[in-house]
Amino acid sequence: MIEADKKSATEGLRLIDSHCHLHDTEFFTDNREQFYKETVEANIGMICVGTDQRSSRQAVEFAANHEFTWAAIGVHPHDTKDGWGDVKTLLENKTENSPIVAIGEIGLDYYYNNSPRETQIEGLEAQLQMAIDYNLPVSFHVRDGAKGQPSVWGDFWPIFDNFPGLRGVLHSFTDTRDNLEKGFSRNLYVGLNGISTFTKDQLQKELFASIPLERLLLETDAPFLTPAPFRGNINKPEYVRLVAGILGEAAKY
Ligand SMILES: [Zn+2]
Repeated sequence: MIEADKKSATEGLRLIDSHCHLHDTEFFTDNREQFYKETVEANIGMICVGTDQRSSRQAVEFAANHEFTWAAIGVHPHDTKDGWGDVKTLLENKTENSPIVAIGEIGLDYYYNNSPRETQIEGLEAQLQMAIDYNLPVSFHVRDGAKGQPSVWGDFWPIFDNFPGLRGVLHSFTDTRDNLEKGFSRNLYVGLNGISTFTKDQLQKELFASIPLERLLLETDAPFLTPAPFRGNINKPEYVRLVAGILGEAAKY
């Protein structure tokens, strides 16, 4: 295994896709190396984010073998029903030159409820403790349920506040100004992706444009949420430049 020097690798990069799944063979097969090459040629680096135990192991392996790539490990709320023990094991085996830079994506998803709510909460709390123990930032996935369902944020913020010292980003943020402010007051960053290039929701556009640059992280969430004008095609980390472009335009007004 090539353990690339992750510190010097950032030199010369123009952008980082702070949240993609390029490592994951569930989504990318033969095209993985080609997409990696295109991204690097555009001077873009990437953080490969795990969603379950298998995908977290794969993120670490991919990042260890690709120079401009780092890994986040964690179990998404959808998959907490299958456990999160391997995340702990990966952290315990972390070497000094490890590509692991974050815990994620973890959180609560009351929209799909693919895992029971109690299991989602248990998985989130266990992994937040790991973030504290290993001093790593967190990539959060928090999604509210349909109207009339219990509020995901009503559960999320008290859990978050139980772990003083947490750092991280609200990935793929599409919620309200109130929750945006709550995130800022806790020093969280906000991750925006292709949604900002195709949303027709005026309030959402204004909210995105109002996020201070120093609180903003760019991401693709590839293979999902392909930015305009490539809707209908698979998303890839190189397209993070399109997210940067549209937000740059929005900031002029
Ligand atoms: Zn994701």
